[in-house]
Amino acid sequence: MARQNLFIGIDLGGTKISTALVDAAGRIIGRDYCQTQAAEGRRAVVERMVDAARRVMDEADLAPAQVTAVGVGSPGPIDSRTGVVTTPPNLPGWKNVPLKQLIEEALGITTFLENDANAAALGEHRFGAGQGVQNMIYVTASTGIGGGLILNGQLYSGTTGAAGEIGHITVLPWGPYCGCGNRGCLEALASGTAIAREGRELVRRGVPTLIAELAAGDPELVTARLVAEAADKGDIEAQEILAEAMTYLGVGMASLVNLFNPELIVIGGGLTKMGERLFGPVRRAIERRAFPPAARAVRVVPAALGDDVGVLGAVAAAIAQMAAGPP
Ligand SMILES: [Zn+2]
Repeated sequence: MARQNLFIGIDLGGTKISTALVDAAGRIIGRDYCQTQAAEGRRAVVERMVDAARRVMDEADLAPAQVTAVGVGSPGPIDSRTGVVTTPPNLPGWKNVPLKQLIEEALGITTFLENDANAAALGEHRFGAGQGVQNMIYVTASTGIGGGLILNGQLYSGTTGAAGEIGHITVLPWGPYCGCGNRGCLEALASGTAIAREGRELVRRGVPTLIAELAAGDPELVTARLVAEAADKGDIEAQEILAEAMTYLGVGMASLVNLFNPELIVIGGGLTKMGERLFGPVRRAIERRAFPPAARAVRVVPAALGDDVGVLGAVAAAIAQMAAGPP
């Protein structure tokens, strides 16, 4: 096998680090998983990332010189131009960490950094559901809501790299508080966290639902998954919570359709396991609210890369930044 154009993708998460050796076509040649153990501090975490990269190289019998580049997807906010992780909320103690430089120095391989949501958008665009598409919106819907914008075939990252924060579009000005400090963000209305909050509220108020039954009456045990389970078993209240949350998601998407006139919206993340309960309300909201020519032009599809989106996105980010040349 020709050992050409090989990349290492590292997906740095709050709980685990996934690493893969990947070829330029997105085929995964080797993998490694380890715990982040963020509480041990940033130096230990960076060391674990470097060790993981060395393990996938060792297993494939590769020297660093045979690897074209390393891509790292990190929780935001980051500065992709300087390769610095600014202040990620789920990596305590990480303030202005020059991650690109640290990994580059340890491995001796050119390294690129991108925030995980943008990296995932690039991954789906290069290797997944968005191949060949010029204008695409990527949305991840799980405990939070994130996203990335591919415009004219390239990642649009804005003036300071903060573009694509789809989860923090205000859709209900005096709605529930969001983790970002604002109120009524899409994330505060349509995320797994928002669904769990609504379910918990019903249990607290003593509304007789299957949600309460499944949680044995304890509001703290209510999760989005539990609400979805109750909905699948026919619970009307649970079905309404999901329909409302996913309609909000669609309301947000309808605005994006009017703004960007995309060809494709790719939705990934844990909530997509709900299938039509997610895609139905989103498609209907776009049909009802967006300008008809733009609404007709867009397809809303599930993400294609599954759990590999992190590592493949990191590689896609490295390839995109290499192509863009030095800043
Ligand atoms: Zn917010």
